[in-house]
Amino acid sequence: MNSILPKLKNGFKNNEMIKESILKLIDKLSLNNHLLKDEYLMIFDNITFEETTYLYQKAYEAKIPYYQNRVFLRALIEISNYCKMGCKYCGINSSSNSIKRYRLSVDEILECCRLGFSLGYKTFVLQGGEDSFYTDDVLIEIISKIKLENPNTRVTLSIGERSKESYQKLYTAGADRYLLRHETASKRLYNYLHPNYMSFENRRECLENLKEIGFQVGAGFMVGTPTQTNDDLVEDLLYLKKLNPHMIGIGPYLCHEDTELRGNISGTLDQTLVMVALTRLTLPKVLLPATTALGTVDMTGREKGLKAGANVIMPNISPSENKKLYEIYQNKICTVDSSDLDKDNLESKVNSVGHVIDLGVGDYVDIERMVESDR
Ligand code: SAH
Repeated sequence: MNSILPKLKNGFKNNEMIKESILKLIDKLSLNNHLLKDEYLMIFDNITFEETTYLYQKAYEAKIPYYQNRVFLRALIEISNYCKMGCKYCGINSSSNSIKRYRLSVDEILECCRLGFSLGYKTFVLQGGEDSFYTDDVLIEIISKIKLENPNTRVTLSIGERSKESYQKLYTAGADRYLLRHETASKRLYNYLHPNYMSFENRRECLENLKEIGFQVGAGFMVGTPTQTNDDLVEDLLYLKKLNPHMIGIGPYLCHEDTELRGNISGTLDQTLVMVALTRLTLPKVLLPATTALGTVDMTGREKGLKAGANVIMPNISPSENKKLYEIYQNKICTVDSSDLDKDNLESKVNSVGHVIDLGVGDYVDIERMVESDR
């Protein structure tokens, strides 16, 4: 069970006074990009569907000065579903016996990038479980070959926790960005969701290290994980404000029935959209994807995400036979149909909500110039 954002469901309606206070807090957040803990909590405890229209409009407006109505595309390649970690929510964790494991070879990954490049993508995101096959040397080979073959592109890694030395080598080899969701900023919830050999502190240290090295860094969290509270969500926003990452991935928790957390309810579209919008208002310059998980809870979830402040979409260009096997949660979109590979289709979805696709590399607004001249 989760008990977050309790008034979002069941047709709750606030009296005028509470409604006014929420709208005022949204205005204050839009203006200052910061609220006190109790102020965030007031929104979480009381927001109803009615106030979300205003919230989403404000969040949309907040990205306009930096990114206008542009949507950046990142080609996602799921390189391996082998994982040595035991995240209890994740369908490919080390204790899952029900899935067939796969990993892509160096050549297969390069082939995916060639396909992506020919489709016009300028960022390749290599995501996977923590698979010891991908040593520093193997990754250095992959990264440097991608960069050599596809000039003026960006390589993003999302392969979990590694040592600072390892991150440094990967950066030196040409990797530009790294996605490592903090998952939750609440130590209690982190410990509930992970086995005791995984460490809340280590994950945060990894994020610090990645920033120090110079990566564009992505943090992020799941919405609606079992036992999550509004206090936990406040912690997420306060932590993100302090970390100030370049990217933030937010998706609903989707219960996987072959994990230890089976039988729990999943996070919802509305809960996630509220968190996306509040995140945009808290960090207006951040690159914020309308995640695949958001598109999985609702057929037009990603489009709704764009209207609520998101500005990135990550089409999955993994080989079709692997897409289904990378089952971090069930019923993932685009595992059966490959509609995202059809760029016209994706473009018309994006256009349908008043946005346009930008096929540039899509760096974080403040470092665009620095990266262009430095690398
Ligand atoms: N091994 C990498 C990549 C993990 S998959 C890493 O540790 O960063 C990317 C993200 O998917 C995770 O960070 C997590 O937030 C999300 N995820 C995993 N299982 C999920 C589930 N059941 N529902 C929703 N999101 C999930």
